[in-house]
Amino acid sequence: MTRSRSYSPASDALSCDILIAGGGIVGLWVARLAQEAGLKAVLLDRDRIGSGASGGLLGALMPHMPERWNPKKQFQLDALISLETRIAEIETETGLSCGYRRCGRLLPLAKPHHAGLAAERHAEAELRWGGVPSGYAWRLHPKFNVDNWPGADAMPHGVVLETLSARVNPRLYMTAMKAGLGERVTFLETEALDGFDDATGMATTSVGRTIRTGHAVLSAGHASFDVLGEIVRRPARTFGSAIKGQAALLETDIDPDWPLVFQDGTYVVPHDNGLVAVGSTSERQFDAPFDTDEKLDAVISRAVALCPLLAGAPVLERWANLRPKAVKRDPMIGFAPGHRHLIVATGGFKITFGIAHEMARCAVDLALGGSGAAIPESFRVEHHLN
Ligand SMILES: Cc1cc2nc3c(=O)[nH]c(=O)nc-3n(C[C@H](O)[C@H](O)[C@H](O)COP(=O)(O)OP(=O)(O)OC[C@H]3O[C@@H](n4cnc5c(N)ncnc54)[C@H](O)[C@@H]3O)c2cc1C
Repeated sequence: MTRSRSYSPASDALSCDILIAGGGIVGLWVARLAQEAGLKAVLLDRDRIGSGASGGLLGALMPHMPERWNPKKQFQLDALISLETRIAEIETETGLSCGYRRCGRLLPLAKPHHAGLAAERHAEAELRWGGVPSGYAWRLHPKFNVDNWPGADAMPHGVVLETLSARVNPRLYMTAMKAGLGERVTFLETEALDGFDDATGMATTSVGRTIRTGHAVLSAGHASFDVLGEIVRRPARTFGSAIKGQAALLETDIDPDWPLVFQDGTYVVPHDNGLVAVGSTSERQFDAPFDTDEKLDAVISRAVALCPLLAGAPVLERWANLRPKAVKRDPMIGFAPGHRHLIVATGGFKITFGIAHEMARCAVDLALGGSGAAIPESFRVEHHLN
């Protein structure tokens, strides 16, 4: 494979078909799909590729609950299904593992009414997830305790085993995505998008460079809201905010094939080589975005209570970062207000890893002159601003 370019002095005059601001998982997918469409791309990151929320530990790919079905849930379902093939392509192409596995998910039922709810969800999942032929099911097991995973005390009313969920190793996935980009993509790291003139297609960057582009895609995670606010002169909070999350990586001898476990916002995600990621906090108010604290200790304690096999496991890493949450919670995709060449693709919040490739497809479709018909109504910029 031909290699992508990674350095260009600020004095170079650059031009491209598509400028991508932000090298998280969304930006890398925009770059990949732009490359597949034959476009010349520049991928800018104000820090390093993968230094934002996408450089984390958890990588849970979990579907929304199957009841109250809507276009957003369908979008995510289609994305979760297609991601398996897309990741296999990237792994074959690069020879690098993304640490992906369709591991399924266990949801321990703590309260009596959870069992009735689980039965209703079983029926909804049959209806929405493709039924028996798909192999994706939501099954209630009144008595289930395989290998003490999770512990019996966590599920006095049984457990749901759901077979659609998967997991990916975020850092391996990011590395493979970057390695899969060829010479049509130029990387500029430690350089931020500062401004964009829609009339001329000229982008300005933090090192004083101007880049002429057909379209720009803002995939700068939570910082997208600030950049967008600056460009369209509205408060950033009109568009969205940053929600801090903390997670940890434990060293265990847990079988990497085991399903991930989820209860009340606590995730326990087995990865390869006995590593288990646990998370996460969800903090609107914070002083130190990238520091971990006692709130993470509490998450680890909840994870151990849920899965006692984790007790005493050494903590290899503690990590914190900021998730992008658009103002109405759903992802935000579409043209920036008053713009025809600046496209926003952010706000994946807690589900970005499962849908980034489809968010990117929508953004690239707009850049190629498409109608954006695949963008669910609730993802559209206008919807968020109404
Ligand atoms: C603790 C925690 C656990 C999580 N667990 C999961 C999970 O299990 N499953 C899941 O799907 N999601 C999870 N998430 C959420 C997920 O990590 C994020 O939603 C996702 O990584 C966001 O990707 P992104 O590409 O939109 O943004 P980021 O990954 O944040 O990337 C944005 C990039 O833009 C760059 N940038 C910023 N400003 C500029 C600028 N002006 N110009 C150029 N570049 C710029 C940044 O340096 C950064 O590299 C978790 C998040 C956290 C914090």
